[in-house]
Amino acid sequence: KQLLVESKRATAVHIGPVSFGEAPVIIAGPCAIETEEQITEIFAFLSGLDVQIVRAGAFKPRTSPYDFQGLGIDGLKMASRIAKQYGLLLVSEIMDADSLEEALPYLDAVQIGARNMQNFSLLKAAGAINKPIILKRGLSATIEEFTLAAEYIVASGNDQVILCERGIRTFETATRNTLDISAVAILKERLELPIIVDVSHAAGRKDILLPLAKAGIAVGGDGIMIETHPQPSIALSDAQQQLNMTEFASFYRELKKFINEV
Ligand code: PEP
Ligand code: MN
Repeated sequence: KQLLVESKRATAVHIGPVSFGEAPVIIAGPCAIETEEQITEIFAFLSGLDVQIVRAGAFKPRTSPYDFQGLGIDGLKMASRIAKQYGLLLVSEIMDADSLEEALPYLDAVQIGARNMQNFSLLKAAGAINKPIILKRGLSATIEEFTLAAEYIVASGNDQVILCERGIRTFETATRNTLDISAVAILKERLELPIIVDVSHAAGRKDILLPLAKAGIAVGGDGIMIETHPQPSIALSDAQQQLNMTEFASFYRELKKFINEV
């Protein structure tokens, strides 16, 4: 049976006015929404660089229950207000179907995280809304499982799905996850959905983000997701992998240059 995600699309995938599948799109922002000052500083900076879509988590899927869990709906409302102020589109993760409806007015796209790639009730709920979904690949999900997770959303009525390769678990410990470049090429070949590459959660370190992003674009990726924070050393989550603003500005300039050359 041919899957819906393999069938020719009637419409392109958009977040707000930004379309995926043409020029690569760079989505940047902090791991988590922490304070009004932090969000104001980083969103002002990103809008100044002409970034159009920002990310920032309010519901954080943390391995330990004792780690910062995110500011929840109040954080999302705050980030949404500041994003609007700077003319930015906001992407944020929702972890369960129950939170979806309440959060929806504050989001331009809903992120389904790696840990929830096979949360089938969330996938079905995401299929019933009319906002775009960024679906991240599960920590140990095969390309087939990733494909079928996307199919759940589309089969439930929402064809606005952007896949996100964010690294998978392997024996390698030099990176947090192993960025699966093959998956990007294979999914581009097989599916009619755009795919972006989250270099930050793949690498778990900040020194190799530019080459990974270039690789993601070179194999046909439709965009890059990356974490940046005004003061990474005091970030409440993923401190070791977030670029500071100087580092991000340089990353952004170099990646734009690369995109214009290829
Ligand atoms: C995130 O992007 O905030 C995140 C938690 O990533 P992942 O779901 O890929 O681990
Ligand atoms: Mn993170």
